[in-house]
Parts: sequence; C-alpha cells; structure tokens
Amino acid sequence: MASALFNSTMASVPGLPPTAAFQTVFEEVSKYNVQLNLFERLWASWYLWMQNDTIATGIMSFVMHELVYFGRSLPWIIIDAIPYFNKWKIQNTKLPTWKEQWDCAFLVFISHCTVELPQIWLFHPLATYFGMEYGLPFPPWWKMAYQIAAFFVMEDAWHYWFHRALHYGPLYKSIHKLHHTYSAPFGLAAEYASPIEVMLLGFGVVGCPIVWVSVTGDLHLVTMYLWIVLRLFQAIDAHSGYDFPWSLRRILPFWAGADHHDLHHERFIGNYASSFRWWDYFLDTEAGDAAAKKRREKKLAQIRAKKAQ
Ligand SMILES: [Zn+2]
Ligand SMILES: [Zn+2]
Repeated sequence: MASALFNSTMASVPGLPPTAAFQTVFEEVSKYNVQLNLFERLWASWYLWMQNDTIATGIMSFVMHELVYFGRSLPWIIIDAIPYFNKWKIQNTKLPTWKEQWDCAFLVFISHCTVELPQIWLFHPLATYFGMEYGLPFPPWWKMAYQIAAFFVMEDAWHYWFHRALHYGPLYKSIHKLHHTYSAPFGLAAEYASPIEVMLLGFGVVGCPIVWVSVTGDLHLVTMYLWIVLRLFQAIDAHSGYDFPWSLRRILPFWAGADHHDLHHERFIGNYASSFRWWDYFLDTEAGDAAAKKRREKKLAQIRAKKAQ
C-alpha cells in the first residue's frame, strides 16, 4: 500500500487504525514526531489519513491551485472596484465589468475541472518516477530558494519561445487568440486560454522541475508547490493591469511584471516572456513605442552606415 511506503520514510505512528479521523491522525503524528514543525505534521497527517499517496497529492494540488488562483485574484477584483487605485492602472480607461470578470472566472474554473483535473492524477507517479521526494523533513529554505530561482529562469525561457510561436498567424488564430480576448487584462484573465495553450505553457511550469529532478535527483514536492504558488502570483499580478511605485520591477529592473505584460495585451506584438525582461531585450522583441523608436533609429543608423561606405 502506498501509505505504508510513505509511513516508513517519514513520520512514525504506531498502531494507528486505518479509519481514524484526521484530527486523531494529527494528534498521534504530533505526539510521536515532536521534531517536526506544524506544516510537516499536517503534511504527514494528510498522507497517512488519505492512505493513497497519488490521490493525496492530486487533491492537494487541485485545491491549492484553486485557492491560490482565485484567492490571489480577489484583491485585484476589489482594487478594480475602488476608484482611488485608478491612478496606478496602466490602461486606466478600460476597467473590466462585473460580467466580464464573472464570465472569465467561470471559464477558467471549467477549464481547471475539465483540462487540469484529469491530468493531475498522473503527476504523483510521474514525479516520483523521476525521483521527486515527498517525505519528511522538508528541505532547508536556502535549497528551496535556489531551486525556485532556477525554475523561474528555465520556465521564462520556455514561455518566451512557445508564447512567441503562438503569435505565428495560424497558431494565433486557432489557439492563442482566446487569451487575447482582453486587450486590457485583469488578474482573473491569467489562465483564460485555450486548453492547448494551457497544456503547452503549463508544461513549462511542471516540466522544468521534472527535468531538474531527473538531472540532479534532488527536489521535494513542497518546493514544487512553493514554485507553483509563486508562479501563479507572478501570472496573476502580471495580468492585474496595475503598476505601483512599489511593484517588484522597480526593485528588480529585470523583473517583467504588469507593466511588461499589459503592453503585450494592448499591442498584441512583443514582450513574450513571462517573468523576466532579458529575452525580449536581447532578441529585440520588446513591445511599445519606446522600443519601436529604438528599432527605427537602429535601422536608420544601419542605412546611413551603408550609404557612407
Ligand atoms: Zn500573447
Ligand atoms: Zn496574458
């Protein structure tokens, strides 16, 4: 039984009946594993109580995704309803209506239930096959930090190339156009996209850690979860439509943020990367008037240089 394997690798709880209530499991885990912190004890109790690791990971992944996605979108819905914040809205004449937001949330939720949910059960066997850990204790924070930083860099590269490819005429019309329904995006619109796009771009989010663990043999499921939570925050905030004086891009100039992605939705061309600005900068695919002016000047300079020869 899968839980027996989990049981032997982490928290030990002697003589726990398989039908015990979650509360009882948690109390027993806490009694015999005082070295574990609260999150670790909850984690152990969840797997012991579920008695099926694949289903335990599947339910936890789905619930976490829903809570984070809609939970993180909620402050943006509230901010859109308060006129005070309008001074920081990038396209400040285009506020989403309640109907637009409701329709968008509904489609995203349906897509989570129909596209994501059937695949989620494959995740646990696949990830553990490639060597992902999910026992206890959790890895140290510094290890989580550098691994998550690596995933941000890797996923950004994946996203840049596949998102850029999705702007190729036939692919744009048949797949990516749906995501561009809103030329002035809002938080909930982050995952408003065709199922093919969700799978293609989602593969970067899930696939990068799987590649990582298959090469290094060192990754814990909790790091993967933290990465997904942060990537969701990034995607929702990038679609929020708000650029504040305290936004992350002001502290990290190479961070893309809402300012970068809002322009992509407004102009439809350029700014293809997700988290960072370097791909668009070095490959000359930045969106907006300033970037277009820079490109024009560069071209003019080239023509003049040619004439002068
Ligand atoms: Zn696009
Ligand atoms: Zn977008």
